[in-house]
Amino acid sequence: MERPNSAHTETPTQADVVIVGNGALGLFLAEELVGRNAGAVVVVGPSDRDAGASMAAGAMLGTFGEVTADSLRTHANRTRFEIGLRAHDLWPDVLSRLEEYSSTGFPLQTATESHVVLNAIGAELDTINLEAMIKALDEYGKPWSEIDPKDIPGFKPRTDTRALRAIHVPGEGAVDARGVLAALEARLDDIGATRVNQTVRRLVRDGDAVTGVELADGHVIEAGTVVVATGARSEALVRTAAEDIELIPMIAGLGFAMIAQRTSGEPFRSVVRTPNRGFACGLHVVPAGPGREYLGATNRLVDEVSSVTWVGDARYLAQYAMQQLDEQIARHEVVGWLSGNRPVTFDGFPMIGWLPLPGLYLMTGTYRDGFHCAPLLAAHVANELQGQPGLIDSMFNPVRRPIATRTVEESVEEYVTHSLAAWFETGAEAAPQMTTTQLAAYYRTRGREAFDQLGTDYAFGPDVLWYAEGSLVGARRIARYLNRLRGNASVLTSVGSGVGDPR
Ligand SMILES: Cc1cc2nc3c(=O)[nH]c(=O)nc-3n(C[C@H](O)[C@H](O)[C@H](O)COP(=O)(O)OP(=O)(O)OC[C@H]3O[C@@H](n4cnc5c(N)ncnc54)[C@H](O)[C@@H]3O)c2cc1C
Repeated sequence: MERPNSAHTETPTQADVVIVGNGALGLFLAEELVGRNAGAVVVVGPSDRDAGASMAAGAMLGTFGEVTADSLRTHANRTRFEIGLRAHDLWPDVLSRLEEYSSTGFPLQTATESHVVLNAIGAELDTINLEAMIKALDEYGKPWSEIDPKDIPGFKPRTDTRALRAIHVPGEGAVDARGVLAALEARLDDIGATRVNQTVRRLVRDGDAVTGVELADGHVIEAGTVVVATGARSEALVRTAAEDIELIPMIAGLGFAMIAQRTSGEPFRSVVRTPNRGFACGLHVVPAGPGREYLGATNRLVDEVSSVTWVGDARYLAQYAMQQLDEQIARHEVVGWLSGNRPVTFDGFPMIGWLPLPGLYLMTGTYRDGFHCAPLLAAHVANELQGQPGLIDSMFNPVRRPIATRTVEESVEEYVTHSLAAWFETGAEAAPQMTTTQLAAYYRTRGREAFDQLGTDYAFGPDVLWYAEGSLVGARRIARYLNRLRGNASVLTSVGSGVGDPR
């Protein structure tokens, strides 16, 4: 098929591949396909990327910085971890390709190293995850060193939340996510992909096969292959082609971050972060170009994709950054408020592969590190679209039973440790005579009750348990899915929410 030869011209009516979604996954895939002369490639997505994750990302290129006690515990977790490890090696080439298309005025790579701090404000989970990180670095033979937290440039926390320990991880830096997306778009225009600034209303079917997409304005683009890469909105879009398709449910992980201009004090020169904790991705600061710093990020599993920011989340992020990173952040001038929805799957693993409808491919579920993993996933998907062997394990195929990695008891204990981490970090207070053991017992009871009411022995992650436990809609949705899995039509009602919840 002849390739439409310029971007932003008339909306095409045909393509070899239509990629729906213009986040990191969609754009990297388009670049990969055009680079392989895969025919006419069209990317459809609104230019504002409202509620998309990629625009809100840090974007840390973190592999070991993301490690938790879970990361290497099972074959599935390790396989997932190694996607990040392999993706990491692709970034030097990515950046050398994209730099010439960048219009940021500063290098796309904004940091080349990380410092991970263990501070006093969290709970046991921080210690557990930092130890897991060090073990993983040693196991994979990667360099790291212990560093006096006082020697980390820019790091000046309040004394009561000071770091007790810190490690330096060279090579785990960050890129300017918004700059990378813009550079990718410029490169796509240059190499001959077509970008369409629109939203897809529905997938078009002919018999069993998906044969194209219908845009919001009614225009139809016929395609040999349609790739859905619409982040947290992917499940909903796939269901426009087949309501009953058996997909792992997706949940939106709404996250908030800020970009701020430093007005005083010493700037950060590296990523400085805590381990992942409290149902979220850890507190972090990322250099964001001259005088600017990215402060991130919250994570809240929600019923609907949206770009709202909760006042509570804005408060927590500002407070944590001032307390735990640098007191001078109080004087920073906020120049950008970012919110986006991480594409979270019910079992926490990506969904990447062909769907049972010929012509339809799904690429999503990357949760916290999809920006970092995007170049590798793009190469994998391009291989699969071209009938070549894939680069990642087929266990992440979207049409699967949820991947099991823990027992219910382990899930409840994880929920307890995350809840305690959130409790102490938020400064929640119980009666003075209440001990940490009693608090843990309270959360343990809540976690167990949630499992009892859902009537399942499938042990999901602590964030999904938190969601099911606090949202009626979420609990019903999860119960419906679990019932379908069991072949049982009855629908459970609510799991309910309790008092004393610091979220
Ligand atoms: C606050 C925050 C911080 C993060 N930090 C990091 C980090 O430091 N490092 C890292 O690697 N990852 C990070 N992530 C995760 C990462 O951003 C995601 O895993 C990844 O960007 C997902 O990319 P995507 O292309 O699949 O989805 P998205 O970026 O969500 O892109 C989907 C796109 O599809 C478009 N779209 C939606 N519906 C339609 C439709 N019907 N038709 C056409 N287009 C549509 C949307 O507008 C959007 O642009 C972070 C995420 C958040 C929210």
